[in-house]
Amino acid sequence: MKLTQLILEEKKFKLPKLNYAYDALEPHIDKETMIEHHTKHMQGYVDKLNDALKKPVSTIREVLENIGQYDTKVRNNAGGVFNHNIYFNLMSPDSLRTPVGDLKIAIDEEFGSYDNFKEEFKKAGMGQFGSGWAWLVVGETGLKILSTPNQDNPIMSGEGEIVVAMDVWEHSYYLKHKSQRAKYIEDFFKVLCWRSAEKRYQQIING
Ligand code: MN
Repeated sequence: MKLTQLILEEKKFKLPKLNYAYDALEPHIDKETMIEHHTKHMQGYVDKLNDALKKPVSTIREVLENIGQYDTKVRNNAGGVFNHNIYFNLMSPDSLRTPVGDLKIAIDEEFGSYDNFKEEFKKAGMGQFGSGWAWLVVGETGLKILSTPNQDNPIMSGEGEIVVAMDVWEHSYYLKHKSQRAKYIEDFFKVLCWRSAEKRYQQIING
């Protein structure tokens, strides 16, 4: 399966570049948040992962799939790098704002409509106590919504492949939205790129 690859140079993971400018998601996700989130938070996960890995690995995915063999520092930082890579790649300044293609069909089948999906996804994000993530995944029986604490993800637990990732750590929204996670989630949906989500979905279902 070919999902987003992270760059390894001289056996060290590097911070991937964003494919849009830091201010490109304005006014929904502000420039200052994007700069902090990418150059401080994600960079921090990259650096700490490189520091924590005792022997070189070829992909972060292989770490996640065998996460029981690693300590908490690797768990938190491998998750941090992997999750943010998906999250940043799923946002875009100009794209379709509702599902397309086979993913649209699957969402309508599983949740009844895009609006119902959005409500359930929002509930998962709001219901995650403290820091964590909300996910749309392809599991054994099709699409499902999950949430996880910290930097855990559904690859670690074997619950499915990630189609949509939404960061609900306060660092994702606090500078602009303050304590209002619900408003951030609404704004996340305004920058979520369904073309990218469909691309991920196709890679998952076509193996
Ligand atoms: Mn984050």
